[in-house]
Amino acid sequence: MFVFLAIALQQSIADSSPFRALPMPAPTPSRSVAGAPGRGYWQQRADYTLEATLDTATNILRGRGRIYYVNRSADALDHVWVQLDQNQFAPGSISAVLNQPPLQFAGGVVFDFSGKGFVGGITVDRFAAAGRSLTTKVFGTMMRVELPRPLAPNLNITFDIAWHFPIPPYGGGRMGRVGSRFYELGQWYPRMAVYDDVHGWNTLPFLGAGEFYLEFGDFDVSLTVPAGFQVAATGALANPTAIRTPQERARLAGAFTSPGQVVQVITRQEAIASAARPVPGTRTWRFTASGVRDFAWAAGSGLRWDASTWDGILIQTFYHPDAAPWEEANTMLRFALRHFSGALGQYPWPQISAVEGLVEGMEYPMVIYCPSLQKREDQYWVLMHELGHQWFPMQVGSDERRYPWMDEGFNTFADYDAAEAFFKGTAYGDTVRRELLSAYAATAIPGSEQPMITKPDEVRQLYWTAYQKPALMLSILREAVVGRAEFDRAFREYARRWKGKHPQPADFFRTMGTLTGRDLDWFWRNWIYTTARLDQAVDSVRSSADSAFLYLSNRGQMVLPVTLELRYADGSTETRNLPVEMWDLGTRFTYRLATAKRLSSVVVDPRRIYPDVARENNSWKR
Ligand SMILES: [Zn+2]
Repeated sequence: MFVFLAIALQQSIADSSPFRALPMPAPTPSRSVAGAPGRGYWQQRADYTLEATLDTATNILRGRGRIYYVNRSADALDHVWVQLDQNQFAPGSISAVLNQPPLQFAGGVVFDFSGKGFVGGITVDRFAAAGRSLTTKVFGTMMRVELPRPLAPNLNITFDIAWHFPIPPYGGGRMGRVGSRFYELGQWYPRMAVYDDVHGWNTLPFLGAGEFYLEFGDFDVSLTVPAGFQVAATGALANPTAIRTPQERARLAGAFTSPGQVVQVITRQEAIASAARPVPGTRTWRFTASGVRDFAWAAGSGLRWDASTWDGILIQTFYHPDAAPWEEANTMLRFALRHFSGALGQYPWPQISAVEGLVEGMEYPMVIYCPSLQKREDQYWVLMHELGHQWFPMQVGSDERRYPWMDEGFNTFADYDAAEAFFKGTAYGDTVRRELLSAYAATAIPGSEQPMITKPDEVRQLYWTAYQKPALMLSILREAVVGRAEFDRAFREYARRWKGKHPQPADFFRTMGTLTGRDLDWFWRNWIYTTARLDQAVDSVRSSADSAFLYLSNRGQMVLPVTLELRYADGSTETRNLPVEMWDLGTRFTYRLATAKRLSSVVVDPRRIYPDVARENNSWKR
């Protein structure tokens, strides 16, 4: 007895409660305990003044310019890091060695993050400051630049840069060209890496799946292209009178005087005619943008151009004459722009341009690349999804290299609302969100599913892990845990308070927890840090004269509140919502229902919104 007691006293038991605290970094002067940017929040600033020439004879892009970089950290920086994303295609790059197979997305869409055998890479011809070349060292897609003297807090430095690279026909699904007549360009200039208060210099290489983490700043970009080309880009055109014909200017003005009307600025016939009639020489287009994290552009000849406006925002669609589904693209984009502005906060920039081309779907500030798709639902989805990225991550500048669920996932969640709204009343609109549960059944296989927190370069099922599962997670948080009004208020506030900034996961968790007044640690742990599965069950029901006792159990690792549909022998029904605290004392719970009526059946999760892995134990019948 004594020995047994002594052993029992020695045994320690770790806290395995699903409700134990989620380990989070301590709040700092930069990041408050409530999930907001703190009084001491800082981030670096990078402004770019660039000039680039598109040489269509050699398909080489040459650029030069200046980067104005402000050190707002408390640290003196003796070096900086620069992103050279084109080196994904450099000889012997990590991506070339890995040679990973394309990722499978929904609807049979394949996303190939490789250059399909293209070998290129970027050449930095100059990286200088104050007239002096700086010592640089290239590590694949990252370059370290030694500063002549440490850059003290609150001081700035201007880098003089020049570079060139061969434009790949297929650039990892994010850029590319068709011959020498159409170009979609992204990651095309040396971009400052982010120096932040959490990781210091963010130097994870660009391998393909993990996207970008960028500083915010202003852009002034001059692009010299063949005279017959149209250009769509981040920002507003700063020299329209030099570029636009009087007819184009008049038609564009029509889009502002008749809001909601789609104006054909370049018609089908005009596009076909212009493609057949090359114009000699070049033209230089100048674009300016402020408070953006990136700049991208597309250029080509023979493009149709539609325009409309909503709330003073210019909505432009550029497409090839054979891309017939794109005649509705402008209307789709306008609908989605209005929808997202209402749901997530007003679109903050003067224009949005969608360009039809070879890129499967890619987002940059104020410009998105989308293919032409035959199915109307798919066409709307990809246009609206790339538009949704104007909020996540173009405004809310999260770290895409580490946390794709914070941009792809939050965007995909918002996309289901935008799809339901556009296709309201149709079979597709009424059922589209259900595909999340079928994806769960098909993809979330124990042993192969990876937690959402996994870095994208390590994820095998990126469409599930970074897009669909976060959308399912937030749908359930909204519908079954905190309620629609409280969720919407908190989610909008997250987007507002981190606009133009760099939120970390803990900032999101704290924002949602504080603003809904809920401890949600258990929820984030289940959904983001584990692959916990849900299996709620009704085991049995016992009745007495004035009560029914419902014996419920939680047979999986995930906890969630329980919704019950109760049917009585007299034909009446009712729904009861039981709080998640029912699982505080363990995996079994007896719910006493004070009623003299005779129960005839009980159903757990009657709306079928949960990914319950064993639905056969969800109902009881007398
Ligand atoms: Zn996306």
